Amino acid sequence: MNAADRPPPTHFIRQIVEQDLARGKHTRIVTRFPPEPNGYLHIGHAKSICLNFGLAQEFGGVCHLRFDDTNPAKEDLEYVEAIQRDVRWLGFDWGDKLFHASDYFGQLYDYAVHLIEAGKAYVCSLSADDIRAYRGTLTEPGRDSPYRTRSVDENLDLFARMRAGEFPDGAHVLRAKIDMASPNLNLRDPVLYRIKHAPHPLTGNAWCIYPMYDYAHCVSDALEGITHSLCTLEFEDHRALYDWILDQLPVPCHPRQIEFSRLNLSYTVMSKRRLHELVEGGYVAGWDDPRLPTLSGLRRRGVPPGAIREFCARIGVTRKENVIDVAQLETCIREALEQDSPRALAVLRPLKVVIENYPAGDTEWLDAPRHPQRPELGSRRLPFGRELYIERDDFMPEPPRDFHRLAPGREVRLRFAYFIRCERVVTDPATGEVVELICSYDPATRGGSAPDGRKVKGTIHWVDAKHALPAEVRLYDRLFAVPDPTGHDDYLALRNPHSLEVLHGCLLEPALADADGTVQFERLGYFTPDPDSRPGAPVWNRTVSLRDTWAKLAARG
Ligand code: ATP
Ligand code: MG
Repeated sequence: MNAADRPPPTHFIRQIVEQDLARGKHTRIVTRFPPEPNGYLHIGHAKSICLNFGLAQEFGGVCHLRFDDTNPAKEDLEYVEAIQRDVRWLGFDWGDKLFHASDYFGQLYDYAVHLIEAGKAYVCSLSADDIRAYRGTLTEPGRDSPYRTRSVDENLDLFARMRAGEFPDGAHVLRAKIDMASPNLNLRDPVLYRIKHAPHPLTGNAWCIYPMYDYAHCVSDALEGITHSLCTLEFEDHRALYDWILDQLPVPCHPRQIEFSRLNLSYTVMSKRRLHELVEGGYVAGWDDPRLPTLSGLRRRGVPPGAIREFCARIGVTRKENVIDVAQLETCIREALEQDSPRALAVLRPLKVVIENYPAGDTEWLDAPRHPQRPELGSRRLPFGRELYIERDDFMPEPPRDFHRLAPGREVRLRFAYFIRCERVVTDPATGEVVELICSYDPATRGGSAPDGRKVKGTIHWVDAKHALPAEVRLYDRLFAVPDPTGHDDYLALRNPHSLEVLHGCLLEPALADADGTVQFERLGYFTPDPDSRPGAPVWNRTVSLRDTWAKLAARG
C-alpha cells in the first residue's frame, strides 16, 4: 500500500486531540513549532515539525512557526532563514502564522509588572553563583533569598531601572516567588528576567533585559491561543512552572503542555551544541554537510522530504526514551527513491575494456527504459562502442567459484547491450595491476539474450568510453563509528574515519548531463547532483546505497 493511502498510526497525543475535539473543549486546534534560532534544524526537529504541523493539518487546525528568540547572544538571522527554508522543504506551511517570542517583549514586561504587583515576583540581587547555592539540591530544600521580602514598590522601582539600563549584566534578576522548599527545583523561585546588554536581531537596542525561556514560552503559547503545547520530555518537570505562571496572569487561555520523547538516532549526534562543535571545528564541511543529521544536510545528500515524513510517521510518538536505528531512516529513503528515481549506468572505479571484434570508430545507440516498473517515464539512449569501462570490482583475474562476473575466459551480460567474453588481460608490467581487458562480444546477443539459449550468470554495468561524462562522486558513510556517540565525552574521537570517500574520474552515461534530481546508478545506489557541480565537472553525492550494507558487515562480524 502506498504510504499516502495508509491512515497514520495513532499515538497518545492524537488521542488527546481527538478527545478534546469530541468533547468540545476546543473547536479548532492550534499547535506551534518553536525553534530557537541558534542553529540549523535536524531530523529530531523534523519529528516535532511533523507532529505539530501534521496534527494541525489532520484536524483542520493551524500550526504556528514561532521563533523562540529570547537569547540574543546566540541568535542569528542566518538561522532564522535556514529554519524557514527547511520547514517549507519538509512540506509544511505556516501561512501568515509566523511569530517571534520577541513580538511579545512588551506584553511579557507588563505581565512581569503584574506579577510583582501581585507579590508573585521580586528582584533578587544575589550573584548567579549564590542563586545556585541557595537553590538547594534534589535532597535538600533551598533557602530564601535575602531579597525575597523586598516590598512591591521597591521591586517595581528596581525592575523599571533594570529595564532602563541602569545596571550592568548580572546585577539583578527578576524571580518568581513560588516555593524554595518545593521538591521540584523548577519551582524554587525561578529566574524570569535577566539583564543582558546585547542587541537583539529583531528588537535591536530596545531592550537590555530579556525574559527566560520558561517565562516567555508559556506566555507566548497563551497569547497565540495555542491549544496543545507539545514539547520533549526534558520539559516534563517544567510543566508545573508553565502552569503556575499562566495561573497567575490574566492571559487569554491556558494551553495544555504535553511531553513526548525526543528522537535519538544511532551513529549520530543530534544536540545543537555538538552540531556547532562539528561545524565550527571544521570536522564537517558546514551545516549542510551530507553526513550531518541536519535537514539541510539530508537535502544536499538527496534525501526526499517525503522519506523524512514517512520515517517520522513510522517511529511514532511515545513517552519512552529510545534510540532509533539509523538503518530505519535509510530504509525509508530507499523506499521513497525506488519509486521515483530514474535509472542510469555509471562506473565509479573504471577498468577499461576493449571489444576487439567491434569496429573501431563505430557507435550504436541502444534503448534503455528510465525505470523498470514505470514505462511512462520513457527511455534513454545508451551509446555502445569498441572501448568501454566497467567497474573494477566486476573483474577478478582468479575468481572464486561463486563469482559470477567477468574473469578470464568467462562471459557476462553488459546491461541493455551484449554478452562479452574476456579473452586476455593486460597488466602493468611494473606493478602487475590489471589495466585493461581485451574482450569479444557476440553480435547476436544484442539486447541481452542469446538466440541459442545460452545463459550467463552475471549482468554488469558499463559505460561507453567515447561518450562517458567524467564526474566526481562523494560516498558518505556514518559520521560516527559507534552506535551511541552521544554517550561519550570524547565523541569527536569516535568519528568514522571513512565517513567521506571522494572518487575522481568516475564515468557516467551521457544522458546524465542534464540530470537535476536523484538517480539510481544501477547496482550502486541512489545518487544526487551536488551544488558544488560546475559545467563540465559534475559532482554527485551518494544518497544511500541499494542495500543495508552495514547490516551485512555487522552479520559478518
Ligand atoms: P537541541 O537539543 O538539538 O539543541 P533544542 O531543543 O534546543 O534542540 P529548539 O530549537 O529549542 O532546539 O527545538 C525546537 C523544538 O524542536 C522544541 O519543541 C524541541 O522540543 C523540538 N526538538 C528538538 N530536538 C528534538 C528531538 N531530538 N526530537 C524531537 N523533538 C525535538
Ligand atoms: Mg531548546
